[in-house]
Amino acid sequence: IVSIVVAVAFIIGIGFAVVPKYAKAKTSKQIKIGLSLATLQEERWHKDRDEFVKAAQKLGAKVLVQAANMDDVKQKEQCENLISQGIDVLVIVPNNAEVFTSIIDEAHKAGVKVISYDRLIKNANVDLYVSFDNVKVGELQGKYLTSKVPKGNYFVFRGAPTDNNATLFYQGAMKYIQPLVKSGKVKVLFDQPVKDWKPEEALRLCENALTAAKNNVQGILAPNDGTAGGIIQALKAQGLAGKVVVTGQDADLAAVKRIVEGTQTMTVFKDVRLLAKKAAEVAVELAKGKKVSQLKDVNGKVYNGKFNVPSILLTPVAVDKSNIDKVLIQSGWFTKEQVYGKK
Ligand code: BGC
Repeated sequence: IVSIVVAVAFIIGIGFAVVPKYAKAKTSKQIKIGLSLATLQEERWHKDRDEFVKAAQKLGAKVLVQAANMDDVKQKEQCENLISQGIDVLVIVPNNAEVFTSIIDEAHKAGVKVISYDRLIKNANVDLYVSFDNVKVGELQGKYLTSKVPKGNYFVFRGAPTDNNATLFYQGAMKYIQPLVKSGKVKVLFDQPVKDWKPEEALRLCENALTAAKNNVQGILAPNDGTAGGIIQALKAQGLAGKVVVTGQDADLAAVKRIVEGTQTMTVFKDVRLLAKKAAEVAVELAKGKKVSQLKDVNGKVYNGKFNVPSILLTPVAVDKSNIDKVLIQSGWFTKEQVYGKK
């Protein structure tokens, strides 16, 4: 009898020891990641989205994607909705850096980690920031512009005031421009933000600036390729396209074609394929319970008004006519045919 009791107890014991583990393995659900995009206005965001989804799926995760069409209220609702769908990690490209404090607290209450993607979320407890060195982006623009136009009249366009990146790009560019202003070599005749990064707004502002300056401008700081497109359209109307140095950022196909044509002078290439892949990888690691302090790719800290956010920052590259082939074609960003047309 004793041995039967022992045997039964043993079997029950094994049952208890094994079943929970087994049950956990069976019910351990697929990792779910929410991706909340501010906008799909620029070509790059389509690549960010597609590469992110591809990389996450490869790692076995499911991605729920929402895009907010530059509407703050809508983006917050979309984030709440994603949290309520049981995601493990929320990846946000904020339209407005300042409006996410409470959403992030909500996410944390639900056990959801939050990654700020490309644009920094300010004054909030984000877990991680994954982006490029955005001050460096501005430095590349400013360095290029001041080396091509060491003296003359400038127009300075800033990105959307709601986007923290716009501030960083401007800071970086002004490191080069400001000394020339101080020494009297450069005059900044215009310096304004472009609401929502809208190309048509940049066009309108540039038309007005050209009128005020009587077309006497030699260098234009355009914060990205979209706004550069609007600016160059305004220059074209005055017969100035190709005569004024214009910067950019993103390596949009239209912009790269303008560089070939000679109406835009440079762009800054940020390989968002690498950014999206890295973000998807760390999102999955966080979902699996890794701590941010255990992530090996963290290589910096960026202050968000509240604390120094652990960050993964990739390096941007300046591109002009001289290195399109090497940087953009050899890396498979575009094909030769896309850039130069069919032969
Ligand atoms: C991004 C740029 C982009 C701009 C407009 C910025 O935050 O870093 O790549 O052109 O937003 O969407």
